[in-house]
Amino acid sequence: MAALLSERKLLLAGEWVETGAWAEVRSPYSGDVVGRVARAGAAEARRAVDAAEAAMRDPLPAHRRAEILVRVAGQLGRRHEEAAQLISAEAGKPLKAARVEVSRAMSTFTMAAVEARKLAGEMVPMDASQAGVGKLAFTLRQPVGVVGAISPFNFPLNLVAHKIAPALAAGCAVVLKPASQTPFSALLLAELEAEAGLPPGWLNVLVGPAAEIGDVLVEDDRVRAITFTGSGDVGWTLAERAARKRVKLELGNATPVIVAADADLDDAATRLAANAFSFAGQSCISVQRIYVQREAYDPLLERFLPRVEALVVGDPADEATDVGPLIDRDARERVLAWIEEARAAGARVLTGGDLEGELVRPTVIADVGPELRVSCEEVFGPVCTVTPYDTLDDAIALANGTRYGLQAGIFTSDLKAALAAAGRLEFGGVTVNEAPTFRADQMPYGGVKDSGNTREGPAYAVRELTEERLVVIEL
Ligand code: NAP
Repeated sequence: MAALLSERKLLLAGEWVETGAWAEVRSPYSGDVVGRVARAGAAEARRAVDAAEAAMRDPLPAHRRAEILVRVAGQLGRRHEEAAQLISAEAGKPLKAARVEVSRAMSTFTMAAVEARKLAGEMVPMDASQAGVGKLAFTLRQPVGVVGAISPFNFPLNLVAHKIAPALAAGCAVVLKPASQTPFSALLLAELEAEAGLPPGWLNVLVGPAAEIGDVLVEDDRVRAITFTGSGDVGWTLAERAARKRVKLELGNATPVIVAADADLDDAATRLAANAFSFAGQSCISVQRIYVQREAYDPLLERFLPRVEALVVGDPADEATDVGPLIDRDARERVLAWIEEARAAGARVLTGGDLEGELVRPTVIADVGPELRVSCEEVFGPVCTVTPYDTLDDAIALANGTRYGLQAGIFTSDLKAALAAAGRLEFGGVTVNEAPTFRADQMPYGGVKDSGNTREGPAYAVRELTEERLVVIEL
């Protein structure tokens, strides 16, 4: 482990480069240095764009792109445990969740390889109008150009996979800036890409000051698309500044779930306890707001609270741990402040609300007003609220009462209620009898409202990173 994490250079134009400056990465759990990484700035970012543009002058055929992506999936399988340890060490993610992330990243690469082989335009029915008679027309799907990719800390492997695998499948070269707190998983993927035969320049990975590297991606006209996953403030500012580029945003949520009285309450309680606190709530679709039909409110809490209290809080490297640390001290202080704000406003903390050692205990809060930050903003911590409702209309209105719209869920045995919720919840995805934290990597995944403007999942991302070129032939 120590040797693996100790030192990483950057991948630039096919070379592993040092820059003379290093950035330390520390464990969110112990504070120990887990490694150091060469630090890039604007000059390296410009070289990376040069390299990506040069690479794209010699396009890779689809079968080669697909073969490379499949090889990366295979290599990830062989180095599965090492990758999981890496995620756990740099992100503080409990090992069992880190292992799931590695398997999901394999799936993301596998699906992207399929999309590379399927990529095709379509026939245009030219004789459908008088003007088209005697002509044949079809479209070609062309790569959009160099892609700038910016990823967050919370899924340091699989969200990087969702950036680079579809872009490469689409035939685009990539300049990737992973989160400064978690660069090692991204650099492992870069190593696997190079081993899999990706020629120089197709993937460049830069770690360094976000604004400096981001500015190059925004200002350089050769970067035709920016794909960003992270917080809304950063994402929407990038979109405003890069008005002429395709800027694809995957942002936050304040994830609601409705539990109707006719639901299987044991099943709902089990799934909600697991999905409100996994990785200490640091998932964009972590269950945050639970609305329970009034007659089922006490029965659900009787089932839910013991399951929450049974979660093991501790060292992410321990096999038994369910809930580890928040990413840093600032995040911890912010989450504790939001809990205090709710308490001061008269909310009741049913469990948690304090620290176990240095870690925030899984926290369930009742009697919260909709204006409190734990209700309407993204907590991004191990905190959820529980609120009773009377009618489905009320529950849907409460769930929609946020500026976010990524995923939402409903537990019910009534098909009509499920379909009504699916139609009226203003979110990019709605789960029925599953926590809205669920994601399989081939799904179209993304938000409405402040949660973003795109859909990821290789099939959808490939479409967004290509453009159709029309060919018209006079017969
Ligand atoms: P963040 O602070 O916005 O950082 C995300 C990325 O943006 C990092 O690589 C960061 O670099 C970079 N960045 C920061 N400022 C920048 C700038 N001025 N220009 C260019 N890049 C900049 O978000 P985070 O705290 O890592 O992630 C948590 C957020 O991501 C939450 O809101 C969560 O909901 C969201 N998220 C959404 C999805 C989804 O699929 N919808 C998935 C996961 C997470 P540095 O690390 O160097 O600062």
